[in-house]
Amino acid sequence: MANMQKVALMGQIHNDGLKILKDSNLKIVEITNYSFENLKKELADVDAIALRMAELPDEILQECKSLKIVSRHGVGYDNVDLNYLNKEKIALAITGSANAVTVAEHVMAMFLILSKFIRTSDQLVRKGKFNLRDSIQNNMLELYKKNIFIIGFGRIGKTLAKRCIGFESNIFVYDPYIESDIIKSYNCIPVSFDEGIKIADFISLHLPINEKTKYLIAKKELSQMKNTCILVNTARGGIIKEADLAWALQNKVIHSAGLDVFEQEPPKDDNPLFTLDNLILSPHSAALTLECRKRMAIETCNNIVNYLNKSSDLILSNIVNKNILN
Ligand code: NAD
Repeated sequence: MANMQKVALMGQIHNDGLKILKDSNLKIVEITNYSFENLKKELADVDAIALRMAELPDEILQECKSLKIVSRHGVGYDNVDLNYLNKEKIALAITGSANAVTVAEHVMAMFLILSKFIRTSDQLVRKGKFNLRDSIQNNMLELYKKNIFIIGFGRIGKTLAKRCIGFESNIFVYDPYIESDIIKSYNCIPVSFDEGIKIADFISLHLPINEKTKYLIAKKELSQMKNTCILVNTARGGIIKEADLAWALQNKVIHSAGLDVFEQEPPKDDNPLFTLDNLILSPHSAALTLECRKRMAIETCNNIVNYLNKSSDLILSNIVNKNILN
């Protein structure tokens, strides 16, 4: 079986995905040691990489002499050197249709947990403080008829908008790359970034991190928000400046925040955010429901199998750099 194509698995994925690789007669190489030295050795002759969160800089990619496709288990790809892949005409695939609903549900959960003061309420009951419920009632809010501001109107932003419509909220959107008519066709109102952060009762981020979006939300922007505003980031750490968010939450500049993503992952134990009550955190797990992990694993592996051997079944919109490939 000398000519079997090889797929490196960098990070665990659901068995439903692995089955696709096995049924397609691809050899799976499971990689657990991510030291550069080991990666250069183990990736040297693989045809494809199924990648979760590990980093693939050009220093590693240069050693992958047989590589044809990197298939991300997810939609973000800031952990891969796309310039290098483009230069070498290696495909980069994402699981475009797998996780929008899951992340949008996570945002709704954070909106609701924060606006209903669920965590404090739970503690009041457990600690025999049932009669102290009046102490939280002024902080308990509704989504009904509130202004939801969605920043970034791609797959997840649009999916979140549909869910907010079910709550009869007013949905405002800022995305400079999406035409106003498209935003309006989702029953949402296009606004400028500056306008949106001022009128919002709830804000959710759904854009990539890059030079333009790093620290998009820092002290100045937080200061412009309503002091009842609830801010949620499930996109990427660093779009909100964490030190400034800690300041805003400490000083009640905004109501509360929810974070699934961090400037450094995992965050350090002494992160000042950890001492704050008006904040809810999750460990970059917004897309990790059982259903979504299955869908992502299946799509990650289908992208590989179809790109290598069955191009008629390939979902072209999943190939990020299709324009530069032949
Ligand atoms: P997408 O590519 O479909 O949409 C991103 C949108 O952001 C695009 O419409 C783009 O025009 C817009 N955008 C780019 N720059 C912008 C700017 N400066 N201001 C406003 N909008 C801007 O991506 P998606 O699938 O919706 O994912 C959105 C984000 O969520 C990504 O950062 C992704 O990495 C992240 N994500 C996180 C998780 C998680 O587990 N927490 C899971 C999936 C995706």
